[in-house]
Amino acid sequence: MIGIFGGTFDPIHYGHLRSALEVKEIFNLTQVRLIPSAQPPHRLQPLASAALRLQMLELAISNQTGLVADDRELKRVGQSYMIDTLQSLRHDFPQQSLVLFMGSDAFNTLTSWHCWQDLFTYAHIVVLTRPGFVIQALDDFFATRLTTQKQILAAHKAGKLLFQSVTQLDISATAIRRCIAEGKNPGFLLPDVVITTIKQNQLYQIN
Ligand code: ATP
Repeated sequence: MIGIFGGTFDPIHYGHLRSALEVKEIFNLTQVRLIPSAQPPHRLQPLASAALRLQMLELAISNQTGLVADDRELKRVGQSYMIDTLQSLRHDFPQQSLVLFMGSDAFNTLTSWHCWQDLFTYAHIVVLTRPGFVIQALDDFFATRLTTQKQILAAHKAGKLLFQSVTQLDISATAIRRCIAEGKNPGFLLPDVVITTIKQNQLYQIN
């Protein structure tokens, strides 16, 4: 079973990293692929270049077996649609269960994603929730896919929806960029190797 964690990673931080590590262990995944988006369809373009966002990601996970930096969206031209990414992963891993992880903020926008219903043809979706998170009333499309049993994910290659609590770290890339632009120290919000790369390349100086 392979985990997929998409994002702009502008920059990667401990909220992403701790979540990726926890889900790897919770779901007994062989690997979690962290996939930076080139041109996210739903938001402003990233401030750091694709090459630097990938470099920061690679440095951050260099000592973690099972966490993999996957640059397939950076190699594609045009918008970074998750449906294209999942199709490409399904091609590479035809026999594996694929599990797409996203925060509850991302799940709340899911129905505006390109071909969002087809995502379930290629992968399960696991929404990372806050403890005590109340599942909003799900429509039939989601309700029929919902499961609370992790072993169901391994038994199917795609198509299920599950909500999973992980350790909450109230860290966002937006807050880190603001902190740096204000000349403050972002220490302990993200790995030191990433902070060093940010300094060397004078990233996020302007908010
Ligand atoms: P920004 O502040 O620039 O929007 P971000 O910190 O939210 O960035 P993204 O790269 O946009 O990071 O997020 C990628 C994925 O990681 C999304 O699914 C998001 O929900 C999730 N995520 C981001 N921060 C956290 C966190 N602190 N804990 C758990 N998941 C997170």
